[in-house]
Amino acid sequence: MYTEQLKDLERISQAAGRSPDLVQGGGGNTSVKLDDSLMAVKASGYKLSDITTTDGYVVVNYKNIRDYHERVDLSKDTDYEKESGEFVRSNVVPMEGLKPLRPSVEAGFHSVLLKNVIHTHPVYSNIICCCENGRELVDEIFRDKEYGYIWIPYINPGFMLTLAIMKEVSNHISEKVSFPKVIFMENHGLVVTADTASECIGLHEEVLQTIRDYFNITGPYPEVAVEPLQDGTFRSKTPYLKEYFKERELSVSFFENTVLYPDQMVYLGGNISVNGSDNKLNINTETGEIIYRTNEKEALTMEETLMGFIYVVENIRKNNLKIKTMSSSETDFIKNWESEKYRKSLLK
Ligand SMILES: [Zn+2]
Repeated sequence: MYTEQLKDLERISQAAGRSPDLVQGGGGNTSVKLDDSLMAVKASGYKLSDITTTDGYVVVNYKNIRDYHERVDLSKDTDYEKESGEFVRSNVVPMEGLKPLRPSVEAGFHSVLLKNVIHTHPVYSNIICCCENGRELVDEIFRDKEYGYIWIPYINPGFMLTLAIMKEVSNHISEKVSFPKVIFMENHGLVVTADTASECIGLHEEVLQTIRDYFNITGPYPEVAVEPLQDGTFRSKTPYLKEYFKERELSVSFFENTVLYPDQMVYLGGNISVNGSDNKLNINTETGEIIYRTNEKEALTMEETLMGFIYVVENIRKNNLKIKTMSSSETDFIKNWESEKYRKSLLK
């Protein structure tokens, strides 16, 4: 059943998850609508590259989830984050042979888009999405493209983000009489949606190539890797990071005060030491060496996240743009968000 659609899910997931310039760790998600009520969507905590036709995703009734968000009455005194999260989970449809997993926290907005959805956290679009005047830059770069796009100012992920996307999609449809296929989310990432998997993969690549061309990024993204040391710790094997941190004036407050997007907090928050040795991620600013004290999976996720963060920060600086960070109320929301605690716990 649904063989073609599940092959499409595997194909878009492998394309979106193929390298750490597109997604870092378990970030990003994909979905394919199987018929007019069911949708296969990435499971929370899984990596995009782990998705196959038989693993790494959950089937939900997206029609119910879309209806819930379309009809929700916002005048009630309700914890909508909690209610909508429970609603999504109660609409998981068990499938024979599929593990019982939890759907991605972003399943809500997948429900209101076209048949195929790719959502990534690419370092290229995040140069734009994490700077002041990001919206103006997007207009400058994408105004004349034949595909429609929308810009979503930062909003808490989950319920509120789904409502914001629905509203902007509907505004775009009334103005331009077409469904916007590209969504830029401030301090977060990129969404591309299309009726076919091939169009979705092609458009995702075309958007990122357009941005690379604009910023004149021609070289390959640095190779990101960690290597095991004898005592069960890991060391960064990413020359870009070593060169960046070597002899740099730096303190932990740099990371704490420069929060670009939620995944940076989920994967790095509170885990970095500068010139110490007891944290999960320890940077030596004399040598540029980075030592991880955790398991390999978490070390690599942290390395990918750190690399993405430094790459975005450096490219914003090189292009004379100004960083836009998340506010403290926005970061507090993420710290207290149950869904993110769950995702983080899957690294253990
Ligand atoms: Zn995301």
